[in-house]
Amino acid sequence: GGGLDTAFVVAWLEEAAGEIARQRDRLTELDAAIGDADHGTNLDRGFSEVLRALRETPPSSPAQALMAAGATLIRRVGGASGPLYGSAFRQMGRTLDSGEAPGASVTPAAFAEAFGAGVTAVERLGKAAAGDKTMIDALAPASRALSQAVRDGLETREALTRAARAAADGARATVPMTARRGRASYLGERSVGHEDPGAASAALIVAALATAASR
Ligand code: ADP
Ligand code: MG
Ligand code: MG
Repeated sequence: GGGLDTAFVVAWLEEAAGEIARQRDRLTELDAAIGDADHGTNLDRGFSEVLRALRETPPSSPAQALMAAGATLIRRVGGASGPLYGSAFRQMGRTLDSGEAPGASVTPAAFAEAFGAGVTAVERLGKAAAGDKTMIDALAPASRALSQAVRDGLETREALTRAARAAADGARATVPMTARRGRASYLGERSVGHEDPGAASAALIVAALATAASR
């Protein structure tokens, strides 16, 4: 593929939607263990709506694509994850839009900065921090790995692959944690021993970045 342009962001959202659809039942099973068994269906519906919105109104910039995705997830997903992911995408879009050279293609550094701003938006809205057993435990390490890889001057595809690996490791690391935010926190210690569903879906969404870059 080309650079971090509109087509790349659309490809990212398509790959994320596809992977969430394929793993919908696994995400819902994770949520059945420590939540209310709707995470896979929530996100599958939400991302289908995102693809529909992008087809209906083709975006003309990466920022526009991300803001449309965010607004759709906020509007269409009933669970906690909708506003959280929605805010992340919207904030990514806003951050790209307010950069020095908003427009058709963004630099890896600007993309990494926007990704970080999206993660910060989730932390603010969810009042969650690392170790609380949420999507943050996959997203924050992914953001750090991405920024580091970009600073080290790695090729974009390699930088995104490192982010994906960090997100997967972060999701796996939620297994022994005690949930302190969201529904799973109602279980207290009984949440130990299960992977957080939002961390699992975050790993899929970040992995989709690397897949989109190889398209
Ligand atoms: P709901 O819990 O409303 O049914 P979902 O099942 O779609 O929503 O999403 C649950 C996931 O959302 C959790 O696994 C967790 O990763 C994430 N989550 C829930 N609350 C918070 C929060 N306050 N901060 C960050 N992430 C959260
Ligand atoms: Mg749920
Ligand atoms: Mg629910």
